[in-house]
Amino acid sequence: MIDPFGRAITYLRLSVTDRCDLRCVYCMSEEMTFLPRADLLTLEELDRLCAAFIRLGVVKIRVTGGEPLVRHGVMKLFRSLGDRLGNGPGQGLKELTVTTNATQLARHAEALFAAGVRRVNVSLDTLVPEKFTRITRFGRLDRVLDGIFTAKAAGLAIKVNTVALRDINAEEIDTLLSWCGEYGFDLCLIETMPMGDVMGDRTNQYLPLSLVQSRLAANWTLTESAYRTGGPARYFDVAETGTRIGFITPMTHNFCEGCNRVRLTCTGKLYLCLGQNDDADFREVLRSGASDEELEQAIHAAIARKPKGHDFVIDRPNAPPAVHRHMSVTGG
Ligand code: SAM
Ligand code: SF4
Repeated sequence: MIDPFGRAITYLRLSVTDRCDLRCVYCMSEEMTFLPRADLLTLEELDRLCAAFIRLGVVKIRVTGGEPLVRHGVMKLFRSLGDRLGNGPGQGLKELTVTTNATQLARHAEALFAAGVRRVNVSLDTLVPEKFTRITRFGRLDRVLDGIFTAKAAGLAIKVNTVALRDINAEEIDTLLSWCGEYGFDLCLIETMPMGDVMGDRTNQYLPLSLVQSRLAANWTLTESAYRTGGPARYFDVAETGTRIGFITPMTHNFCEGCNRVRLTCTGKLYLCLGQNDDADFREVLRSGASDEELEQAIHAAIARKPKGHDFVIDRPNAPPAVHRHMSVTGG
């Protein structure tokens, strides 16, 4: 699949639920109205869509959410997607990964590994228990750490995703980096993006990563790395830890040129760009009894609409979000 700007689309992010057992302040509002369950695609429908994307050239799928591990029966989907890893008939997938808040990771880590998952991204913005509870509105840090270390013991490589928040964890990035280094985890820092109404003004949370990076350079030897995941992160090797640190800077950098991904929601909407509102509806296509061929044609037609890039601008005080859906709809 090649989009109108010559970019090969090889990466599908699949949000399996909009629900979550946390309410991170930058991601959700305290009172969320979640989708009625009847609107969701079944696990079989999600699997069928993924199979079509794989036939058309997708080699990497990241399962995300909301919190993917709260979706009932989600391990069944991991197993069926895991069966598509390889080069045999009905296969073609090279990598199956997941982004999770790790609250349920302890009980699923081994099954994820058994399904073929080798790397997980865990979101963690602080190592201070009270702060963790404040950021997530009611989460417990010990549970997340238990999830992380169980996953490590199960053989899963871990990347920690941290949203840089000016008034909350700006002073803690060094600690997070050395903690990650101690356990062999890569760390990826993310700028807050203006998505969805989260109650309150997001401008006082925005922390430009250029600033964080120059502060870190005072204490750590960072060497630009050739490592790429096909995503927007730019990575640096950290000499002192032997691990990597990545920076995702949608607000200060435009990362759209090499974009290789599309995002499918749990209701079957395909978003061609994280920072745009345009979508293509596949639930309709699936439930109208489309054949595999018609499904593939619909996917091609959607990819032909992929826009050149996002329109994020750094939040002006009290400005409405650039994109109306919450991050939990597409999973970032
Ligand atoms: N619940 C899972 C988790 O937290 O890892 C997966 C879904 S979550 C929406 C995916 C990632 O998006 C998390 O790393 C989270 O920190 C990030 N995120 C959520 N809202 C964001 C925002 N407004 N700006 C930047 N990153 C955001
Ligand atoms: Fe839930 Fe992840 Fe959003 Fe936090 S960032 S509220 S864990 S979906």
